Amino acid sequence: MSQVNVTLPDGSNRAVPPGTSVRDIAESISPRLAKAALAGIVDGNPVDLNFPLNVDASVRIVTQDSPEALHIYRHSTAHLLAAAVTNLFPDVQCGIGPAIEEGFFYDFVVPRPFVPEDLEAIENKMRELASQDLIYERQMWPREEAKAFFAGRGEPLKVQLIDEKTEGQAVVSCYTIKDKETFVDFCVGPHVPTTGRLKAFKLLSTSNAYWKGDARNQPMQRVYGTAFFSDKDLKAYLTQIEEAKKRDHRKLGKELGLFMFHQWAPGATFWLDKGTTLYNTLANYMREVLFPAGYVEVKTPIIFNKSLWETSGHWSHYRENMFLVKSSDDEEMGLKAMNCPGHMLVFGSQTRSYKDMPLRLHEQTPLHRNEASGVLSGLTRVRQFAQDDAHCFVMESQIASEVEQLLRLVQRVYGDFGLEYSVKLSTRPEKFLGAVETWDHAEASLRQALEAAKQAYTVNEGDGAFYGPKLDFDVTDAIGRKWQCATIQLDYQLPARFGLKYVGADNAEHMPVVIHRAIFGSFERFIGILVEHFAGAFPLWLAPVQATVLPIADRHLDFAVRVRSELSAAGLRVDLDDRQEKIGYKIREAQLQKIPYMLVVGDREAAEGTVSVRTRTGGDQGAATIASFIESARAEVVSRTTPVAGAGPSGASA
Ligand SMILES: [Zn+2]
Ligand SMILES: [Zn+2]
Repeated sequence: MSQVNVTLPDGSNRAVPPGTSVRDIAESISPRLAKAALAGIVDGNPVDLNFPLNVDASVRIVTQDSPEALHIYRHSTAHLLAAAVTNLFPDVQCGIGPAIEEGFFYDFVVPRPFVPEDLEAIENKMRELASQDLIYERQMWPREEAKAFFAGRGEPLKVQLIDEKTEGQAVVSCYTIKDKETFVDFCVGPHVPTTGRLKAFKLLSTSNAYWKGDARNQPMQRVYGTAFFSDKDLKAYLTQIEEAKKRDHRKLGKELGLFMFHQWAPGATFWLDKGTTLYNTLANYMREVLFPAGYVEVKTPIIFNKSLWETSGHWSHYRENMFLVKSSDDEEMGLKAMNCPGHMLVFGSQTRSYKDMPLRLHEQTPLHRNEASGVLSGLTRVRQFAQDDAHCFVMESQIASEVEQLLRLVQRVYGDFGLEYSVKLSTRPEKFLGAVETWDHAEASLRQALEAAKQAYTVNEGDGAFYGPKLDFDVTDAIGRKWQCATIQLDYQLPARFGLKYVGADNAEHMPVVIHRAIFGSFERFIGILVEHFAGAFPLWLAPVQATVLPIADRHLDFAVRVRSELSAAGLRVDLDDRQEKIGYKIREAQLQKIPYMLVVGDREAAEGTVSVRTRTGGDQGAATIASFIESARAEVVSRTTPVAGAGPSGASA
């Protein structure tokens, strides 16, 4: 019998008899690898360890360090969850159970909703089944037999899935855990070999769901869980989500009086006075950064005639995401969802020369996107927002130096907020516009800029937009979550659609390249991230209220007013708590409001012209003259000192 030729990741080959399993291959490499193996990748496809090799193939063994491992592990845990549920609640019908970004879920049709005690019982059952080290076995069933089996068990949803997903197949893939009496599911796999491999998992919550996510379909209940390879990783994740709950910007935004929402303006933020202060501080900070870097600020219209959107291409590709309105003389208009098309008009409004380039237009006016109401969430998914947006119009020869300057701006800005970040370069996708040489040049310029700015990065092959390559920036917050914020996006298409030109040094007309770029991304979302990153305890330069004056008794009020006006005149944002409350109560309230400095004034302070300084975290710092407090506070504002990220479980909060 002829042998099967197996190619391993190191390029080596071995000939094995047909039917040799992936596990056998692992065993032949080393017993240790076989022990660590969870699954295999055969010619790029994930498979079980039992998968038989019948034709020549490349084979890689999946261990817990492989990129595919966690997904397979979590999906296997979803099966374990379904097995536990069907064993405890025989009337329950199973839907689907995929792995997701942070764990897995499984949807069930239930006679009554699960209660927390149910989740506990289900989790215990999962542990029991895991400890029995039961085998996940793939069985290929004749299609009609499988349908009849699931129909007979009262699982019409599985029958529907088989109908939809396996048309024309003679056999369908099903998986048992131990045997089909214990658990069986219609699934293509792969899974870990046995339940004993599942070590660290936890059920987290339940929510209402619908079959296939469609509210017209059967209501279901979704059970969410997560799984990790070690208890340590699981624990760290659970701590992170607990911490995330405490830091939730929707909760803190309310408690700190930053913003509100109303059902009559879904997805549009009401910035309250403190939130507006924070917002304006960020807006002006960005101007401070951008103006010296050669940017100019513009304000372009909010509502444009549809002709603009037709020229930009948004009318055909993006209209459903835009708010459309009609003018009184019946013109079709659209609220802008991005600034770019307007900036094209600004560039095209004059004859431009190579001497004008790069031309950098910055704009912070509001944008609107018609998001479905169901996806709106706090400041992270909104309908109205503004960006620290800019478009840099450059000559092709200027791409590398412009992007290098941008990378340095990003480094500086995130540094000022104490935010770590990583950079991804996304290159030419399969479907793209323009010439390959243009793309090659653009990608080479981006790489050159990254190297010149000494910026580490990873490459996402083929993940660029159809009109140009891009750089994406993921910020890591104080509790280790990643958020995509900044982007730098090269675009050759929009200038072409608007027929933009500049006169080159050669006196001929050339087309500029445009760089779309934002560093915060949207102000709304960035503020949401900052609130959670700092747990509401903003560094002094960002704090909406930087200090509050706390008179001990009414007789100290005159002096307290004097302190407030001197601080205020020095440019500090200061409050005065003149309520007839005990000083301890006032201090606690100021701490809850996460105000950086509390200035207590009583008899001695009034007599000596001093303040007793307290910080929100450090308690009593002793007395200072008004002038010396102002001096040190202003120095702290200028230095933009950031509380140490991640210090203690609640960061810098008291
Ligand atoms: Zn499965
Ligand atoms: Zn743009």
